[in-house]
Amino acid sequence: MGAATIMSLFFGRGKPSFSSTDVFPLTDAIMEFDDSSAEVAHRARRQSDASRLKGKHTNAQKWLIVMGLIGLFLLAAVVFHTLGMVRTSTLYVLMGCIVFFVTAFFWLFTSGTHMRFREKRLKLPIVVAALSSMLLLVYLDPVMQILLAPFSFVAIAYGMYRISRGKAFLLVFGLLAGYALVMALHYAEQQNDALLKLELLHFVSLAVAMPAFVYLIGKVQLLHRILHRASRKLKNIQEDAQRDTLLGCFNRRYIVAALEEQKQLADETGIPLCLAVIDLDHFKRINDELGHLGGDEVLRTFARVAQENVRAGDLFGRYGGEEFLLIFPATSLLPALNTCERIRAQVESHPWKGLLQSRVSVSIGVTQYIPGESVLEFFSRSDTAMYMAKEGGRNQVVVEEPVRKGDPSVTVSLMDEDSDLPVPGAPAGFPMRDTSRRPSRV
Ligand code: GH3
Ligand code: MG
Ligand code: MG
Repeated sequence: MGAATIMSLFFGRGKPSFSSTDVFPLTDAIMEFDDSSAEVAHRARRQSDASRLKGKHTNAQKWLIVMGLIGLFLLAAVVFHTLGMVRTSTLYVLMGCIVFFVTAFFWLFTSGTHMRFREKRLKLPIVVAALSSMLLLVYLDPVMQILLAPFSFVAIAYGMYRISRGKAFLLVFGLLAGYALVMALHYAEQQNDALLKLELLHFVSLAVAMPAFVYLIGKVQLLHRILHRASRKLKNIQEDAQRDTLLGCFNRRYIVAALEEQKQLADETGIPLCLAVIDLDHFKRINDELGHLGGDEVLRTFARVAQENVRAGDLFGRYGGEEFLLIFPATSLLPALNTCERIRAQVESHPWKGLLQSRVSVSIGVTQYIPGESVLEFFSRSDTAMYMAKEGGRNQVVVEEPVRKGDPSVTVSLMDEDSDLPVPGAPAGFPMRDTSRRPSRV
């Protein structure tokens, strides 16, 4: 039981991983999300709750394991006592040791004092406390040595990933020295040859088996270290696979898979979801003027400006070339529109290092998800709106209204169609030209 519990404590359970089920038709992306990513809004929120809970759960689990091991020792001692082999006073001392050390370590951990130590989990002091308590009990009641050998193994196995092999050997040496001292004290007090012989047998078996055990544990430690390193590398690779190498923002694979996931989340929960397609205007001209490398620099700056102007939880990624997707999880159209307008204005007003003759601007199409539509339909509506922005003269944001066929009640009308004036509810101070018209196909 102990071994299995200890193994599960160190290795834990595998993280559940997300995989896109209904593959976005515009890409062949099927990817696994790293659940540790703090970027996806809902996931991040749910996840931070989850990780807090998980942290608490892990701590509780650790205490439960320690208390379980102590409980097993206590149970054995109580059975011995019931059989008339162990004195009541020994049981009291055992309980005293438990209360003392559990309280002391609980205080160390909850007060944060453990953070001052190099090994913050204090495994070595915990194991030392356990072994010295056991030696004390053996001194008080020689029959307790029956429990000493198996529980010494358990104690050392408990600390195996935090205690180096060298320290574990020292620990074994200390245990044997302590046991030799107890034997000497017993003999000095009782001059009992039979007891001395029995204790010598125990001593020899411990002295032979313990170093072998520590040696084998060293092998497991090595395996653990290799696994740990490999999983760290894998995590880095996963993170790199999500990023655009030129711009550092999310890449097409990630952003498209994130869109698919957010669509599913919106379907499940009914929370709003918006998507913007952003395209740099006349980028060919910028390339012609600055050269391809200069164009790259403009793209990099744009990606930075855009990311500085999105809210935490919004997901920004490069869809391809000079076209980007911006996902607004749990966001309705007006706040999404506000963010798009902020990005547009920031790009327009950015001091492009005085390098450029031509202005840098973006055309943005934004729309809200209609529950039940496909990701392709959702994307196409945003894309259409972006092309409307191009047709309308570029450097503007166009909203595609989420109209469900045959259900006019869900129409969000931001602009008065005839007068081109914002209707009540449109963002305050929103420049008219930026939300100038709705795509005609709506
Ligand atoms: P429009 O306003 O209609 O979008 O005009 P545009 O010139 O931006 O559009 P078009 O799609 O015709 O051209 C996009 C250009 O972007 C062509 C391509 O060479 C350039 N481009 C795509 N990816 C990169 C990149 O990574 N770096 C650089 N420097 N240029 C890129
Ligand atoms: Mg362009
Ligand atoms: Mg383009």
